[in-house]
Amino acid sequence: MIYADNAATTKLDADAFELMKEYLLNDYGNASQPYEFGQKCKTALRAARETIAKCIGADPEEIYFTSCGTESDNWAIKMGSNLTDQIVTSVIEHHAILNSCKSMEDVGKTVKYLPVDSTGVVSPSDLDRMLDDSKTLVSVMFANNEIGTIEPVKKLVDVTHNKRGIFHTDAVQAVGHVPIDVHELGVDMLSASGHKFNAPKGIGFLYIKKGLELRPFIDGGAQEKGRRAGTENIASIVAMACALEKNCVQMGDNEKHLRNLENIVITILQNAGLDFIRNGSGCRIPGNINLSFADAEGEMLLHRLDLKKICISTGSACDSVNTQISHVIDAIGVPDKYAEGTIRISLGKNNTESEAERIANALIDVLTNR
Ligand code: PLP
Repeated sequence: MIYADNAATTKLDADAFELMKEYLLNDYGNASQPYEFGQKCKTALRAARETIAKCIGADPEEIYFTSCGTESDNWAIKMGSNLTDQIVTSVIEHHAILNSCKSMEDVGKTVKYLPVDSTGVVSPSDLDRMLDDSKTLVSVMFANNEIGTIEPVKKLVDVTHNKRGIFHTDAVQAVGHVPIDVHELGVDMLSASGHKFNAPKGIGFLYIKKGLELRPFIDGGAQEKGRRAGTENIASIVAMACALEKNCVQMGDNEKHLRNLENIVITILQNAGLDFIRNGSGCRIPGNINLSFADAEGEMLLHRLDLKKICISTGSACDSVNTQISHVIDAIGVPDKYAEGTIRISLGKNNTESEAERIANALIDVLTNR
């Protein structure tokens, strides 16, 4: 099998798994209990928080553990909008953001949607024009999950702060893959999800800048300084810290490796004379290859590659029941002739050159033998 859907999820890091086992089978205490067995877990929790903070340039007190990227996004949008009069987001956000915004619209909040250009980039001047005297929560993703485009986050933050707004970024596709320094960027909130960077599924975090009075999304006990209740998932938190630190140490090498694999795939497809468009901007997440083939069907390509034991995606994984053209492909205006033939190959650090060649050759085979 060739797994080339790393934007959907990644393989658990082996060292992270070993750590998990330790905290599931041996040190399985509750970090809130005062006896030594519990305190051992509390110490592990503190260390994991410090590691994660260091990886994104935050202070440890600014990291709040959640159950996934979706929860982090819901918290940021639903509680962040309590602090503001309106929400501004982009049309190409993940549904964790779009549907949270929709819920806020249902209870009377104003939500405005920023357009993107044909490469998926949000323009800081469009944002500037959209912001008025109302206090605004702006949420624009760090990198798009379908086309990989990296947004000009620093510029968008500056525009937002000039108009006294609050800025959140959904960095689920970016954390562990590209350098991020939250203090340098100036973001007020940032969402991340473990399973996108070789940590287990069901764990994530929200960065909340010191001083931002964000109310809890989940009420209950005193965990996470009373801001996110629920007994901490120590095994997954410790594993997440381990996987993130490893990815951050290997980031430069991973990027070089992935850019090489991207080139292999694109060069083979081009040399075969196939008619396709590569979507996204030149500044994209390493390993993302979003392609629209002329007069083809993404669904058909996915299933034909599946028969060849190759896993790719047509759009975002959360949308796999929906066979329509994705909202992202629609927003960037891919011409009709190509739009339906869109697939996403998302390579990961474990993929090899020979796998990249096999993916490209399998695509050529499927497209030329329809
Ligand atoms: N945001 C983005 C950009 C994503 O790509 C995803 C998952 O695909 C999510 C949020 C949701 O993350 P999770 O699967 O951890 O809930």
